[in-house]
Parts: sequence; C-alpha cells; structure tokens
Amino acid sequence: MKALCWYGTKDVRIENVPDPQILNPRDVIIRTTLTAICGSDLHIYGGFIPTMERGDILGHEFMGEVVETGHENGLRKGDRVVVPFAIACGNCWFCKNGLTSACDNSNPNAELLEIKDGASGAGLFGYSRIYGGYAGGQAEYVRVPFGDVGPLKIPEGLSDEQVLFLSDIFPTGYMAAENCNIQGGDTVAVWGCGPVGQFAIRSAWLLGAGRVIAIDKYPERLDLARKGHAETINYEETDSVIGTLKEMTGGMGPDFCIDAVGMEAHGSFLAEAYDPHQAGHDAGNRPAHGASRRDPGLPQRWNGFHSRRLWRIH
Ligand SMILES: [Zn+2]
Ligand SMILES: [Zn+2]
Repeated sequence: MKALCWYGTKDVRIENVPDPQILNPRDVIIRTTLTAICGSDLHIYGGFIPTMERGDILGHEFMGEVVETGHENGLRKGDRVVVPFAIACGNCWFCKNGLTSACDNSNPNAELLEIKDGASGAGLFGYSRIYGGYAGGQAEYVRVPFGDVGPLKIPEGLSDEQVLFLSDIFPTGYMAAENCNIQGGDTVAVWGCGPVGQFAIRSAWLLGAGRVIAIDKYPERLDLARKGHAETINYEETDSVIGTLKEMTGGMGPDFCIDAVGMEAHGSFLAEAYDPHQAGHDAGNRPAHGASRRDPGLPQRWNGFHSRRLWRIH
C-alpha cells in the first residue's frame, strides 16, 4: 500500500510499504477513505517530537471502511467508522472512567512517555515511539487495535466530510469549551481561529455561551469565525487586545479564555496574540520574538484576566 512516511525533520515521503496485518483478536483493518493533517503533525514535521524513526507512517485523523476483523470484535466487514486518535483498551481504570486518552494498556512504551511528560498516556496513531509506535492513518490501510472500543460507527446519511473531524479536532475544541464550564450567557474569548479554534467557537455556543469573541490576524479565518457568529478582533489592527476585550465587555474582560494558537504558530505565537504591544516588557522578560510557552513571564501578560480560567488546546 502507499503511506506517508517520516524520514527526518521536514522530510516526509509517500512510500510503498507492506499492508498492515491483524495481530490481536480485537484488531480491525480499515481502508482509509479520508484522512486529515493536524497541527500536531507539524510538531513531528518540525522535529519537535522525539523517538520518531525513519519510515514511520504518519497520521492520527482518519476514517474508513472495515475490511478485516480479528475474531473478538464488535465491528463487521463493511462498517464505516471514524477512529479517535487515542487508542483505548476499554478495560483499564482510566478507560472505565471515561479517561481514554490515559489508557493504561495501549502504550507499550509508557515508561518513555513518563520520562518526557512525568506521566504516561495512551498510545496514539502515527505519533512516535513514546506514544506506542503505531502506524498512522495517512495511508491506504491502517491496523486499529481494540476496534471494539474506539471507532465510532457512522450512521447512514452522514458523509465522510461531516464526520472526519470527530477523529480529533472537533472533540479537542469541544473539550476546551466544556472545560470552561460555561454557564448560560458567559463571554468566551478564543485566541487562534484555525480549525480547532473554529470548533471551540462553535462548541462554546453549543454549551450556552452568551458571547464568543475570536482573535486572529488572518482575514479568512476571522471571516469563518464571524460565520460561526463570533465577534472578532484582528490583533494586528489594535493597540491592545486586552484593552479591546475590556472595552467590549464593560471593563470586565471575558469570563473564559481558550488558547487555540498552537505550538509552532508564526512569529512568537502566543505572546503576540495575547497582546503584541505588551509582550516582552510586562515581566521584564525577553522580547516577543524569543517568547516560549515555558517563558516564566508569560502569565503576567494575561493581566486583567488572572482570576478567570484559561484553557489551552493544541
Ligand atoms: Zn490531530
Ligand atoms: Zn484502557
């Protein structure tokens, strides 16, 4: 089959590779009908994720048709499914408590992830050896372990395009909004209007927001945010994002802030998005173009919103 394989930083290639095989009774093989590129694939492409090996197959957002099943499986040949990116066994404490991305059984390299992050997590498709070394879905066929747990059967009448984003970015945006615990009428500000930000905007409405304010600089993204009924701020057209937000909300600021900017956003990413004119001097730290997520000064730029809740998604 053909698959997109990683060969090094900024070096990915379509290669012919062996077809996947059923290895365990609960496996299924899926013929991919649609797959997506995620912002998180850029972490791998840009060389930020350790333990990738040459030839590893990328992709964790995919869907397709079941073409083969192990003998212990609730799925059947011909089922159309969309596959969540985290691999979950369904039996461990975490899975039984709805915390499937922390599954205790699906990541054979959990100790490595513990070294990196301080705690282990589930295996992920197409996402390096520390996340289990599973082949990804940017390929013609994929082996999906625990096929009876993760894959969602697609009801009749829904197209691939309508359900593909259930694999990752819709739930990601939804979870950020859900974590806000929005009470009816709250104002939610969303930094970053890429795909995940767009889903966060729409999810905030679904969960009862009274206002949604979206911040970005790209006109087409801001247009799409307005189509989702958000008010918008182009941060390149204002002296102060924070000042504008306060003006728009009677001095209060938003009730909740969602950061959907992404790890490798352009320029100094988060710092500039928050407030280009304050970044770099509020906390006496480095100029904006050296800022990073671990920059100890960064939270102080969120002045005015420090008592409220901020959720980051990437
Ligand atoms: Zn993703
Ligand atoms: Zn589990």
